[in-house]
Amino acid sequence: EEKAAKEAAASGAASTSGPTIFEKIISKDIPATIVYEDDTSLAFRDINPQAPVHFLVIPKQRGRLTQLSKGNEQDEQLVGHLMMIASKVAKQEGLDQGFRVVINDGPQGCQSVYHLHLHVLGGRQLTWPPG
Ligand code: IMP
Repeated sequence: EEKAAKEAAASGAASTSGPTIFEKIISKDIPATIVYEDDTSLAFRDINPQAPVHFLVIPKQRGRLTQLSKGNEQDEQLVGHLMMIASKVAKQEGLDQGFRVVINDGPQGCQSVYHLHLHVLGGRQLTWPPG
């Protein structure tokens, strides 16, 4: 079981040991403020916002992709879709002066939830470089 979970994680599939917090949001087992939803993606407000507007865009399919670096050619359409949804919802949220899209990947990228997600931040003047 443990070996299977490790192999699944290494291949980019989600652990078999249980759903991530985002999968519980997808299944509506825990509440979230959803700002957009379609067949393949979901966007909801970050619980610990780092800007006046801070939402996350995730693929809905469980176990599809834990992090960007585990993706392959089969994920191109999905990742492209998530990026376009980020932009569409940014517009919906009134971020007409600009915004930032971030994907944290792995330990050095400060990723904490291993279900692919795009952060979209805006509503204030952001600075560069990030920390
Ligand atoms: P990461 O560090 O890039 O993996 O980002 C994970 C993000 O998920 C963080 O910004 C958290 O604040 C956010 N987060 C964690 N749990 C929840 C939740 O239950 N609802 C909404 N956002 C969450």
